[in-house]
Amino acid sequence: MASAAAEFPRPIDGGPAYRAYPKEPGPYLHQELLDFSKRTARPEEFPGLHPGPIPHDEPFVILGNIDIDKSRRPAGDLIPCAMCTPNRFLQGKHIYVPRFQCVTIIGHCCADKDTLASATQTFDAKVQKESEENYLLKALPLVGSKLDVLEAVQAKAVEGRRLHRLFNRNASHILDYLRNIRRNGGTLTVSTKIPIDHEAERFAGPAGYKRDEEEQYKTTQIGTLHGLCIAVAKYEPDRELILIRQALSQLSVQRDEEETFYYVADLSDSDRESQVTLLRNIDRTYSRFSKRLAEFVSFFEEDNIALLNKWGKHPDNLLNIHARFERPPYGLAPGTRRFVVGNPQGQAVMLVSNVLWKALPHWEYVSFD
Ligand SMILES: [Zn+2]
Repeated sequence: MASAAAEFPRPIDGGPAYRAYPKEPGPYLHQELLDFSKRTARPEEFPGLHPGPIPHDEPFVILGNIDIDKSRRPAGDLIPCAMCTPNRFLQGKHIYVPRFQCVTIIGHCCADKDTLASATQTFDAKVQKESEENYLLKALPLVGSKLDVLEAVQAKAVEGRRLHRLFNRNASHILDYLRNIRRNGGTLTVSTKIPIDHEAERFAGPAGYKRDEEEQYKTTQIGTLHGLCIAVAKYEPDRELILIRQALSQLSVQRDEEETFYYVADLSDSDRESQVTLLRNIDRTYSRFSKRLAEFVSFFEEDNIALLNKWGKHPDNLLNIHARFERPPYGLAPGTRRFVVGNPQGQAVMLVSNVLWKALPHWEYVSFD
């Protein structure tokens, strides 16, 4: 502390040298201490710390945690605690002591449990508040652009719901098979009966070996079918969108950064918390919505339909299902496709609008940390 002692005045006559902080220092100071400790593993040498002793019952405010790896300290050497002994801890707290207008470090050893508990609580609440405010400052300015995204996604969601409903109404006899495939994780297989060579078995098998009545099957995998949320009973992406929009509309939109800043700073604890919860839920719900919509669309990809057809028309597949895209009738919007699916019992024809393949606009997710 020799150099530190030279740098800092002595606010209390004859007392130890330390730096005076008339007000609680901001988060920068703890960051500086952390950077210093990272370099030196000796937080006690951070310039300006009160060297102690500080009375045991002195009220304090926690600025942050200290955690030093023992392997980086000389053997047996622990960090001195400003409230008790010079060789004391590896994990402790960086604190501000208002009455002495100083900062210092103490181990978990110190302060009576009540002081520490209440200081910890205040500290936790402060950290929580900071996280929530930072989150809102990032997330609130995005509300407007998120509403725009919902607007742009609308047509695609409506088309998704229309196709799902149409499929359920007109191709329900095919949906039952798709449900089975879905239960099977999308795997398409066919079973082929293998004729048993009775002559060979008679010679090779042991006496009494008898499997003449048994049938043998070989299972062949054709591939994996995607987009099987088409086979769930209820799929209403347009309604999901309405719910997300309603939730977003509950949030107030600010004109600029400054207005957002003051708006966030003025929020009560409970309003701040509930807005954070609402915004995080909206991000989660949109993520689920868009993943599911992408999955739904993947059912109608050319390769996927070709695979369904390959499986359905496999010579050993008794279901005899066909699926394909056909040239659409003239006069329709470019990119519209005519989708045909069925089996010998009946077939459904549906026009698929090209909005289904429109790329979703970018939705910016905000992480809470
Ligand atoms: Zn101590």
